[in-house]
Amino acid sequence: MPTAVDTRAFKRSLHHSDRYNRRGFGLGEEVAGSLEQAYQSNLIASLRENGHQLQHGRLSVKLAEAFGFCWGVERAVAMAYETRRHYPTERIWITNEIIHNPSVNDHLREMNVLFIPVEGGVKDFSQVASGDVVILPAFGATVQEMQLLNERGCHIVDTTCPWVSKVWNTVEKHKKHTITSIIHGKVKHEETLATSSFAGTYLVVLDLAEAQLVCDYILGKGEREAFMARFAKACSPGFDPDRDLMRVGVANQTTMLKSETEEIGRLFERTMLQRFGPTELNDHFVAFNTICDATQERQDAMFALVDEPLDLMVVIGGYNSSNTTHLQEIAVSRGIRSFHIDTPERIGPGNRIEHKPLDGELEVVEPFLNEGPLRVGITSGASTPDRVVEDVISRLIDLADG
Ligand code: SF4
Repeated sequence: MPTAVDTRAFKRSLHHSDRYNRRGFGLGEEVAGSLEQAYQSNLIASLRENGHQLQHGRLSVKLAEAFGFCWGVERAVAMAYETRRHYPTERIWITNEIIHNPSVNDHLREMNVLFIPVEGGVKDFSQVASGDVVILPAFGATVQEMQLLNERGCHIVDTTCPWVSKVWNTVEKHKKHTITSIIHGKVKHEETLATSSFAGTYLVVLDLAEAQLVCDYILGKGEREAFMARFAKACSPGFDPDRDLMRVGVANQTTMLKSETEEIGRLFERTMLQRFGPTELNDHFVAFNTICDATQERQDAMFALVDEPLDLMVVIGGYNSSNTTHLQEIAVSRGIRSFHIDTPERIGPGNRIEHKPLDGELEVVEPFLNEGPLRVGITSGASTPDRVVEDVISRLIDLADG
């Protein structure tokens, strides 16, 4: 059970182990060429220098001011490449996709990095042996996974983004002060699973509507049974809403929609104020802003982009990438014809696009581009390399020319 683990003590001892690395191997220069070749793009570099705009025939492309690879992702991918160099012959595993981008994960497969198999939703570590190298991805791993790998005698290369570690520190502080962590996130997302494993008592809320249900309960407006049925899979073992919602702190999956996290924080603050009064508020509510800069910048840039006159938007990023989905939500909320794709190959052949609508299955739209002048906005999530964005633009140009 997560509550039984002294996660701070475990992390401290792990960080002192000579089989643990979270700083890379000093091989940055050696891997720079491979990274550039795989992920960077001259076209995107020149667009960045030219006001993020491109005009080609009837097509005007406007790129968001901030998009694509964030530094946490760049760092994680570079560390994975360095790991392969540092351990040229050892067996290397990764506990999950290093980031949510299919092309990056394919490159790792080509470098003979193995992914831990998943059976029926459960990871199978049985093939991982002592002396193997195991990479933890940018969004982290659960404390139980780290313990297992450590006990098995593996070399652990931890690429967890420092922003994610900051959230873990936040929930550990809550735990120390017997405060329940209200985690704004997706209950099955790897980052939220990892964060919950470092928390003591916690409850995960997906959105404002779920947060409202919790706040209603705090104010005595809910049924215990219905509440427990709703949150059974989103809370710590033994969670008791009548006991555990008296003192709460808010934390979040780093890639959630910032405005929603802030609103959830304010909602809990108001609720505790109403229930306990202003003099008691600080004993019952603590807020932390744990949204990472990169997510915030991409969301802000998207809000600016959707204010421009656009005929359509293309949002690029893995389908299980939370920050990409939130970018798509922003476009949809403005009523813009917007398409979320994970790879350039979703465009074509011919004038068609296969995309994933919000909360829907993949669908094909044909015709994709309308006749006449077209203003296309483009953005990409924090785990999408520039090379992929370039390929999407090239396909749009070919289609518009065609
Ligand atoms: S999106 Fe933020 S938290 Fe996630 S890897 Fe990038 S910098 Fe880190």
